[in-house]
Amino acid sequence: MNPIQHMVVIGTGLIGGSLCLALKKAGLVERVTGVGRSRANLELAKELAIVDDWTHDIAEAVHGADMVLLAVPMTAYASVFKAMAPHLSAMAVITDAGSTKQSAMAAAQSFLPDSSRFVAGHPIAGTEQSGAGAAFAELFEERLCILTPDADTRADALQRVQEMWEAAGSRVMRMGSAEHDDFLAAVSHLPHLAAFALVNAVRKQGNEEHEPFEFAAGGFRDFTRIASSSPQMWRDIALCNRDAVIRQVDALQDELSSLKDALQSDDGEQLLEHFTSAKQARDAWLETYGKSLI
Ligand code: NAD
Repeated sequence: MNPIQHMVVIGTGLIGGSLCLALKKAGLVERVTGVGRSRANLELAKELAIVDDWTHDIAEAVHGADMVLLAVPMTAYASVFKAMAPHLSAMAVITDAGSTKQSAMAAAQSFLPDSSRFVAGHPIAGTEQSGAGAAFAELFEERLCILTPDADTRADALQRVQEMWEAAGSRVMRMGSAEHDDFLAAVSHLPHLAAFALVNAVRKQGNEEHEPFEFAAGGFRDFTRIASSSPQMWRDIALCNRDAVIRQVDALQDELSSLKDALQSDDGEQLLEHFTSAKQARDAWLETYGKSLI
């Protein structure tokens, strides 16, 4: 891959910061400019050598850049695209790392002068931490990165973004944005909602002497790790993929209702069937896809 000469990263948090570190480690980027709102986070990004320079001004930053990455919460896309649109160089490739792809592409079509230069992407990697201080170069190694081009996406822009993620260590897959949003609603967005809901259900219980958290151990910690994620980021993701997320909430409610029915009718067979089919599916997932995650 020819090195990126000037990369602008809007949102130098966990995801944007980690990609910069990975590309710098691979020697594939000559200059990185960070853009954000928090001065403290941008100064930290400079101190950690994630960026070479930074500014609060999107217009000034994107001038002459050949690669522009959005790594901001989903609801910031419209304002970020609007701010950069008149100042982009004609050869710039614009991409993103956001968790919902139909909303990202719709915003690019509405606000960019030439959305064929926008390549929507989503690295399937992350942690529950936020900010530049949480970034690390190995985050994307051996992890999937999904790109969701459409018929208008320029082939050369797509190729450049694919090579960028491969240089960061990712395996790149291409698929349609609607299909992406449906699958991710099931395996990522629903688990976050379920973790937030479970912690809320538990925290409201207890008596004068004890709160339930006193007795929580490894199982509770494992199930609820992602409830420590950024509430703002997950509000945005849920709203930007609302219909698919609602379908997944319905699916979970159906499963919980049938477990409740089995309990109410004292039906051990039914419970065993539920638990066994879930165990088999999870064990098979872990065997086939999950080993590198541990
Ligand atoms: P983060 O909070 O670590 O970083 C986001 C950064 O964007 C912050 O530095 C924040 O100050 C900045 N920001 C917010 N609004 C802005 C605006 N209007 N203009 C400029 N900067 C702004 O979050 P993150 O985990 O790096 O997530 C970034 C994106 O990546 C999100 O769209 C998220 O959906 C997606 N994503 C996250 C994960 C994950 O597990 N964390 C995984 C894959 C994709």
